[in-house]
Amino acid sequence: MEVYYTTVKNYNLLDRRNKLLDLTFSNLGDNKRILVKPNILGPYPPDKHVTTHPAFLDWILKYLIEVKGIEEGNIVVGESSGFSTEKAYEVSRIKEVCEKYGISFLPFERDKSVKIKLLNTTLAIPKTVIDSDLIINLPKLKTHVLMRYTGAVKNLYGCIPGGLKIKLHKYFPRAYDFAHLLVELYRYLSKGREIISVMDGIWGMDGNGPSNGKPVNAQIVIASRDALALDIFATYYIGYNPMDVLTNRILTERIENWEDKLNIFEVDGIVRRRDLMEVPRMNFRKPDTYYLTSILPPFIIRLISSIIIEKPRIDRVRCKRCGVCEKICPVGAISLENLEIDRKKCINCYCCHEMCRFNAIKLRRFL
Ligand code: SF4
Ligand code: SF4
Repeated sequence: MEVYYTTVKNYNLLDRRNKLLDLTFSNLGDNKRILVKPNILGPYPPDKHVTTHPAFLDWILKYLIEVKGIEEGNIVVGESSGFSTEKAYEVSRIKEVCEKYGISFLPFERDKSVKIKLLNTTLAIPKTVIDSDLIINLPKLKTHVLMRYTGAVKNLYGCIPGGLKIKLHKYFPRAYDFAHLLVELYRYLSKGREIISVMDGIWGMDGNGPSNGKPVNAQIVIASRDALALDIFATYYIGYNPMDVLTNRILTERIENWEDKLNIFEVDGIVRRRDLMEVPRMNFRKPDTYYLTSILPPFIIRLISSIIIEKPRIDRVRCKRCGVCEKICPVGAISLENLEIDRKKCINCYCCHEMCRFNAIKLRRFL
């Protein structure tokens, strides 16, 4: 479980950090079909720091083509945004970078798909994902109102096409169930191919991420051929106990003495081995949904969940009536006619909060 990290103040300096990629991409093998999976959550410009920065993708593609000698035709960049992947691809300026290198971009909802069963639920996985020999996973370092953190394991959920991604919240409404789904998907994808993750943490997001938090210049790039190891390191770096994040907790259950297997290297001019405890940390502001649920024991939470759980409501002043939240809500709880959310239907998945580009969904404990 090797993790490499380097500090980088801004995107212009990435070219000086190829050593990190040399270590991460050593012995790459003969991969014919490489899928690059950035995080393009929605149509956000790069300076919002919601999506993987185009300069970060540029750095990775340039390295693969110029240093590793991989042909452009063997690489596809793919994603399924919460809505309008095409628009997200353009606004995030990922399109510009793909065009610069002559690499095709695939909105997964346009691909053929293969049906698989995970946790007794049928999922459609794009054929391009199934056929890939290698996934290069480029998550963004952010907090997340439902899952507390989104990183390497969670970013792979964007391999599920279009509306199905949101609809699945209906079948896995609790954070714990949803974490199991993320873990099983990660395990499934890891079986047939290698997954190499390089995280864009130069600018991340804290607070009510993954889209309505505050951008933070976290000045770090983290890379690993083990998505779990990367997530353990990243969650520690931003001030969590890594076991507070459910995907980390579930995945480490099957690894005996995982702490001893974690090998961390700081990569600068030279490469230094570090203990996790030696790594300087940041204190990311946690999502509003985090505090009570992390202090109280689970049985108390179950008893008083209707009181302590943050609930979404529409801010009538901020709302632009774009219709996105109404369209994506997996249980049809939102009515734009009166700007109301039906509390009886709502499962608190926070997809509306995540997808509202105008920060018009507010989370409140008491309504
Ligand atoms: S709350 Fe946000 S997503 Fe929903 S209609 Fe208003 S602006 Fe659009
Ligand atoms: S109203 Fe929002 S939080 Fe509630 S179920 Fe719909 S999308 Fe999820």
